[in-house]
Amino acid sequence: MTDTTIYLDNNATTALAPECVDAVLACLRNGYGNPSSKHAVGEHAKVQMMQARAAVAGLLNAAPAEIVFTASATEANHMAIRGALAARPDKPHVVVSAVEHPSTLSLLAHLEADGIRVTRLPVDQDGLLDLAALELAITSDTALVSLMWANNETGVLFPVAEAVQMAHARGVLFHTDAVQAAGKLPLDLAQVPVDLLSLAGHKFHAPKGVGALFVRKGLKFPPMLFGHQERNRRGGTENVAAIVGMGVACELAAREMDTKAMAMAALRDRLETGVLMRIPCARINGGTALRVGNTSSVCFGALAAEAILDKLDKAGICASSGAACTAGGTEPSHVLSAMGLSEAEALATIRFSLSRYTTETEIDHVIDVLAAILKRMTAEAA
Ligand code: PLP
Repeated sequence: MTDTTIYLDNNATTALAPECVDAVLACLRNGYGNPSSKHAVGEHAKVQMMQARAAVAGLLNAAPAEIVFTASATEANHMAIRGALAARPDKPHVVVSAVEHPSTLSLLAHLEADGIRVTRLPVDQDGLLDLAALELAITSDTALVSLMWANNETGVLFPVAEAVQMAHARGVLFHTDAVQAAGKLPLDLAQVPVDLLSLAGHKFHAPKGVGALFVRKGLKFPPMLFGHQERNRRGGTENVAAIVGMGVACELAAREMDTKAMAMAALRDRLETGVLMRIPCARINGGTALRVGNTSSVCFGALAAEAILDKLDKAGICASSGAACTAGGTEPSHVLSAMGLSEAEALATIRFSLSRYTTETEIDHVIDVLAAILKRMTAEAA
């Protein structure tokens, strides 16, 4: 990596915001206390955690007591799903979409072996969910509907507000994986009354190793990790420095969401316009759907994404094929397959994900480099 590296893999992880680095370092130096300790050093750590909790709650228009810190979004997703099932032992059914993150789908595959019934709703060619199918999928034994807010591979948004209403009308709990929406879209939980919501700090410029689960007031379920921390909802001494970093990232996101999200969307559109104009085989997956403004999933005909990515990497440009967790693998992405792409099309797809730090100069350079790479590869393939 050099100073000139262009990083367009922000849905995999983001660079820390300088403000977060400062806050985390200050905490590591001076805030080493255990927030459960009753002395001054512990009290100092507790106050820092309280501030961070208020900032996370602020981003969601929620109450601080509704935030449970976790080590990751994977943990938050698992806590939400396992917790909802444990709270409703007479309802062994979960409804999800076929394009949820692997952290959700792999847990559900595991739970199926224990007798939990799982309905995976299909999406159409634009990655959109059919609400009528959701309505039909909910039955009297459904404990939970879990739908992501924004897809990590395509950016396509699900109609979370309508889906929550539908679930609640049938007395069913609603969880959303909002990992790719946080910091990019307003998440107002007073307006969209989800019961449970997962976040990951490292997707919006906080450190890795910290996430959060929003648990609506009054909703009780047994913890996965037992211990007195987080109001008995998640045991284990808290990662105070990372939590402080997440708090700062939430403050930044809340303060600058309007301007930064608009700028990011304009650059994503500039990238797509340039790519479509200069590369005849390019097509945007989910391009006509409502999408989170930083994500672009581009299918390059039948040309291998891995080869393009390798050439981009050599030119100092980082992007990924499908989800980062499957990068390097040859399996087509489950998201693109669910949208009806052929195996060859899925394996010809690259995800570009921008951040608040992406610049116009970088985007214009990426378009130039991509156009040159694709021109050469197309000529070679002919
Ligand atoms: N959910 C979504 C939509 C994601 O994109 C990710 C990470 O890529 C996760 C959950 C899991 O996050 P983590 O790996 O931080 O646990």
